[in-house]
Amino acid sequence: MVTKRNQFHFIYIFNSYKKLGILICLFLFLHSCKSDRQLDKKFAIKFTKNQKLYFVETAYDKGVNHKWVKGNITYALGSKFEPSEQDFIKKTMDYISSLKNLPQMRLTEGHGDITFYKPTTTVAFNNLAKDAYLWRGFTRSEYNLDNTPKKSDIFIKTDQTNLNIEITIQHELMHTLGLLCHPNTKFLESSALGRRFFNSSDPKILPNLPELDSKALIILYDKRFLSRSTQTEAKEILGLK
Ligand SMILES: [Zn+2]
Repeated sequence: MVTKRNQFHFIYIFNSYKKLGILICLFLFLHSCKSDRQLDKKFAIKFTKNQKLYFVETAYDKGVNHKWVKGNITYALGSKFEPSEQDFIKKTMDYISSLKNLPQMRLTEGHGDITFYKPTTTVAFNNLAKDAYLWRGFTRSEYNLDNTPKKSDIFIKTDQTNLNIEITIQHELMHTLGLLCHPNTKFLESSALGRRFFNSSDPKILPNLPELDSKALIILYDKRFLSRSTQTEAKEILGLK
């Protein structure tokens, strides 16, 4: 026998299940919309799997990116460089300026947003590098409150072959521009940040950047990847699992 009280309970439970069902449908609908919106197939198809992988492995430090948000970045030589090194830096900067989405790099006097230094001796370099005394070069960056770069100083060790100086300049520049990390994957393609370091870069393409690095910069500076956007969002946009 269905009492009024039981009937009320039945209607109450039925309505609760109905509400739950509607909520589940709504969640599934919103979830599918979100996925469709976030995966940008048209954009993702422009890059190879390794280029996308190299980007997510290098451009995210603790899960977020740190890219420059100004359209023009000034750079300067804060100490003496050989004419051939000056020429190499200018050509690399011009190449970066020519890449889609990248800010324009403009040479200035004294100090710039990015300043290159080459301490005159290895001892002077080691004193500046402190714990990084074994490194070929290093970068010190300052960030704004929103963690976008404010200023970067690049230090290059003097006591190296010309080729290694050039490779170090590009390696540190990649860190400065927001490719902060070294990739975990050992890519067969040439790269400025690869784990094999000097053996990872192909001298024949200098002063142009390796393809992996130029594509990673193009992806990073695309408007789809907002400053401090997360690595998880980036993987979704690029269709990486
Ligand atoms: Zn490095």
